[in-house]
Amino acid sequence: MITNKIFQKDPYLRTLESSVLSSNCDEEKAEVILTDTIFFPTGGGQSCDKGFIIFDENKYPVIDVYEKDREVIHVIAREKASSRWPCQGSEVKMEIDWKHRFDNMQRHCGEHILSGVMFKLFQGINKGFHMGDDYITIDIDLSQSEKYSVLTWEMAEEAELAANSVIWKGAPVHTDYFETKEPASKLPLRKPLALERDISIVTIGDASSPDDCVACCGTHPRSASEVGLIKIYKIEPNKGMSRIYLEAGERALRGYQKQFNTLYDMSLRLSAGISDITAKCDAKISHMEDLKNQLNHFRNITINAEIEKILQNSAKLIIREYDDFSVDDLLNMSKKLEPRCNGLIVLICRPHKTVLLVSCGNEGFNCAGIAKSLGSECGGKGGGKPSSARLFFREKSDMEKFKTALKSEFQTSGL
Ligand SMILES: [Zn+2]
Repeated sequence: MITNKIFQKDPYLRTLESSVLSSNCDEEKAEVILTDTIFFPTGGGQSCDKGFIIFDENKYPVIDVYEKDREVIHVIAREKASSRWPCQGSEVKMEIDWKHRFDNMQRHCGEHILSGVMFKLFQGINKGFHMGDDYITIDIDLSQSEKYSVLTWEMAEEAELAANSVIWKGAPVHTDYFETKEPASKLPLRKPLALERDISIVTIGDASSPDDCVACCGTHPRSASEVGLIKIYKIEPNKGMSRIYLEAGERALRGYQKQFNTLYDMSLRLSAGISDITAKCDAKISHMEDLKNQLNHFRNITINAEIEKILQNSAKLIIREYDDFSVDDLLNMSKKLEPRCNGLIVLICRPHKTVLLVSCGNEGFNCAGIAKSLGSECGGKGGGKPSSARLFFREKSDMEKFKTALKSEFQTSGL
């Protein structure tokens, strides 16, 4: 005996009583096959139903539903280790998570409508479908199209409008069952049939010129109007096809609310109307670029002045410490100092505990050597070349230690 898939005939049924045909249990879970089921098993890009199987006054969460050898297998868990698993012949009651099911129905039917429109408008064929946690994707192949080779955003918007028009006119959705392929093939299908037997064909709209007509085993609402809304978010090339990211139903509305709230928040921050946000943003970006250029100009003036000040000092060891120059500023300074210095110049960026060494590179002023020996001894990390090196200290006290050691080494060597 094979389970009656009641969800195919009545996708609106939320509870049903049934009896167990067989069950296979271990400590953790049981796999149950029933005479009738309202639980949709994972398939055709749609996730399985969630819900409960109620037996012996206990509610068993349904953690997975899958189809194997035409049987629908319900995987159930138990909340109390002491509760008895249902066995062959047990009478059980099913309860599906309707919110989850209706979400699946809206999204799944939304995918049908948009795929049907893509086929009608552009001869685009849906070659892949995924209903993910964050969005739905469909892959449209335009290789059979006489006129179009790539899906543009304008085409996507045209399809989006046409898809929502199918919703607005409340196109009926109905499913026909065929035992064999031959009669089903006579319908105006958008895709050739892959199955030989037990075929469900879903038609949206008028059967003589349907908005969509395709083989599908999923659960669908009675009318396209129940889908409510279809919104395309993004299109991108994918393996020679065009991948469309979309949402349908309540999720499309919630996505719109979220994006609208972001826009509204931005409009308040920018003191602009929503339609002026782009212009205001462009103006802000351009103003920021100007400020950046000005800042760089004055930064270079300050850096050059600081370089001249350093070079006025004829000492063989010069140590300068800064709070306002960034490490990048000091690197810039060190590059400019390198060809002009006679001894060793040490530039310290105090907030970042970073020390830059610059020298003429001569014997006794080997920056890489100093970083490797004295720097490492004091806990610094880094290195470089004879004429410049960089050290980073985790602790400020280690950086101070390095400074003192360097000064004393210079005194000892009499440089
Ligand atoms: Zn379907």
